[in-house]
Amino acid sequence: MEMRSRGIDVFAFAAGEPDFEPPQAVLDAAKKAIDAGASKYTAVTGIPALKEAICAATEGMRGWKPEPKNVCVSVGAKHVLFNLAMALFEPGDEVVIPKPYWVSYPEQVRLVGATPVLVDTREEDGWKLAPEKLERAITPRTKAVILCSPSNPTGAAYTEAETRALCEVLRKHDCWLIVDEIYAELVYDGFKFASAAKIAPDLRERMVIVDGVSKTFAMTGWRIGWALAPAHLVKALDVIQGQSTTNPTAVAQHAAIAALKTPLADFERIRAMFEKRRDAMVAGLESISGVRCRKPEGAFYAFADVRGLYGLESQGKTLETDEDIAFWLLDRARVAGVAGTGFGMPGYIRFSYACSEERIRAGIESIREAVDVAWRADRTVRTTVG
Ligand code: PMP
Repeated sequence: MEMRSRGIDVFAFAAGEPDFEPPQAVLDAAKKAIDAGASKYTAVTGIPALKEAICAATEGMRGWKPEPKNVCVSVGAKHVLFNLAMALFEPGDEVVIPKPYWVSYPEQVRLVGATPVLVDTREEDGWKLAPEKLERAITPRTKAVILCSPSNPTGAAYTEAETRALCEVLRKHDCWLIVDEIYAELVYDGFKFASAAKIAPDLRERMVIVDGVSKTFAMTGWRIGWALAPAHLVKALDVIQGQSTTNPTAVAQHAAIAALKTPLADFERIRAMFEKRRDAMVAGLESISGVRCRKPEGAFYAFADVRGLYGLESQGKTLETDEDIAFWLLDRARVAGVAGTGFGMPGYIRFSYACSEERIRAGIESIREAVDVAWRADRTVRTTVG
């Protein structure tokens, strides 16, 4: 942002939000709601029409139907997760979170005094938590497991069989399963997303699905997300939210109803557009000497291994960490990515492809130029030294 304010054209591959506007129907619905007087407090957990729309959309997109009593609408999915931490966790509780993780999961657990138990996953396993590792991480103190599929930051998504295997482990232990499915509509190469609630209906009494309109509908600023949870937990969320934000913004709730009624063909257009962007980003990163990138199943992030660039010299400094490389790319290539260390996975950089293919290709060329110059300098130094 600081570089941009100086007029520098930065390739913004750091952002976690789509570059396009929400569907026109969303904007129209919001304007209509303003004129119709959506200016007052609403029910704390959301207006009935939005809850109905959420239940219908969940059935249409995910193949299982919650009831309105299972829905708590909050001020974005991040707020949903925060309320869940407040409602469920206390000091002494452990919460199992696979690594790399979306930054807010462990921080929210810590904020309420509970302990995140971070479990390694490996790129060779597709960044997915293996059932044996889950089994080993669970103790009598485990209060919940938080999964994210498709994942931020890796883009990895669990197949139906993989989710089934994790549910099999959880059946043996009395803890909550929280699944963040906010990117579920954004999956590629014919990947069939399978919601944990569809796969394991018997676990729904201790399962929460987290979802929202931010990503699929490009509505990050509208701040609408929701929990799909057992009715008794929704009551607890109602109490917590009632003492903090009260309802999510009335106008935004009306906009979200319109978003959830988006025709399936429009979803497909958005999904297909992201698939092409993913292909451009991943192929571009893979073509750079010293960078490797696994092809993710979903979301809009490429999680690239940059350890092959370690040891390069820049302005008298040796690049030794993902953070060095992230700063160096910003400085030399005007490319903003997010260092993997922030997600608990040093050695990697997350590049978001929620921008046009043209920008992706230009950003990749800019990285390539910077890296080529650095490699040439590196070879000169090595040849001179001997
Ligand atoms: N979960 C994940 C995995 C995310 O990436 C994000 C946004 N970066 C959120 C939740 C929060 O989304 P919202 O805008 O609805 O708060």
